[in-house]
Amino acid sequence: MNWMESARRIQEDLEGLSAFTATPGQGCTRLPFTPETRAAADFLLKKMEEAGLETWQDPAGNLFGLLPGRNREKPCILCGSHYDSVPGGGNYDGIAGVVCAIELARVLREEGITPDADYLAAAFMDEEGCRFGSGYFGSKAVLGRLEPGEAGRLTDEEGITLARAMERYGLKAGELPKAAWPKGRIGHFLEIHIEQGPVLDGQKKELGVVEGIVGLRRYRVAVNGRADHAGTTPMDMRSDAVEMAARVIAQVGDMAREAGGSTVATVGQVNTRAGAVNIVARSLEFSLDIRSLQNEVLEEIPARIRRRLQEETEKTGGSFTMEETLRIQPVELSRPMRKILEESCRERGHSWMALPSGAGHDALSMGQQVDTAMLFVPSRAGRSHCPEEYTPPEAFGRAVQVMKDLIVRL
Ligand SMILES: [Zn+2]
Repeated sequence: MNWMESARRIQEDLEGLSAFTATPGQGCTRLPFTPETRAAADFLLKKMEEAGLETWQDPAGNLFGLLPGRNREKPCILCGSHYDSVPGGGNYDGIAGVVCAIELARVLREEGITPDADYLAAAFMDEEGCRFGSGYFGSKAVLGRLEPGEAGRLTDEEGITLARAMERYGLKAGELPKAAWPKGRIGHFLEIHIEQGPVLDGQKKELGVVEGIVGLRRYRVAVNGRADHAGTTPMDMRSDAVEMAARVIAQVGDMAREAGGSTVATVGQVNTRAGAVNIVARSLEFSLDIRSLQNEVLEEIPARIRRRLQEETEKTGGSFTMEETLRIQPVELSRPMRKILEESCRERGHSWMALPSGAGHDALSMGQQVDTAMLFVPSRAGRSHCPEEYTPPEAFGRAVQVMKDLIVRL
């Protein structure tokens, strides 16, 4: 199979799909359970059928296309990504991985390869979580990890519940448990995704073999002091929330640098209360986002920050609270599958590098339970979640070739 032909078909499919946006001319806006999603789903199901796959939509709005394997009893190989987008996003994030999964099925059929186990191309609903504020909805449904009542509780900006949006879309929230696959039925999950960062493009590498997906901790921190007159209160009699917090915030970046590797830590929001040009601030709130491949680091940095807050607030009789708002465990991707991907890159002469993923993906969700592998293709100038997002079609052609080698060797 000529991989340039793969690249051409992938480009054609992506061009077709780019029409299904709520913001034509201003990037891709395909929020879950909307008419744009419906149109994209119909397009994808048609492409899967044309590829000779048996297709269906599950109760969560996920789409599947099945190519039966030699051994139907064996745990299957699932390959895919998501088909929703962020508001004003690009034409590649998620959807390119779905199109590649369908192209993989075409290539397998054209080359007369029957995989050992069933192969399924998958398109997941609502990975981004932009409409209902959750994320990984489709992949969580497949794993049976949705919380009961979640669809009735989550609402969009207009107050429409997820359950109601599903109903308008022609699906029933009550049937969501049926989207879960029997334990052990999925043997491997494979995902091709754009990198969404500048590393591969900057290093001029054609492919990225993803080592793992970083875990994440988010906190809301409040430091409390005392409001006082900025002119009359001597420096040694203040309990200044800004000063206490700033001493700690200034160290957050260094803590991440010390941990090294993939670790990043960000204070993205800071707000003071009763702060004015002539008032010592009573309190300061800040956000904290820490990501790392190493679980120990995700435990250690927040503990260090807590200790530092304790020390600083004790000095002046202040106080603090530190509330965890999100916790996601890091996932190490399958070592044996990474080795096969790397071998294939070498044999086929594609330049590659191993790298971690700093963004979450369906692979992060699936990887909690299933043996998972992920390939990154370069994002031009690292741009993503914007209309400028671009990856050349040849990059997807190469990724499909390498993923095919993995499927054959599994
Ligand atoms: Zn994505």
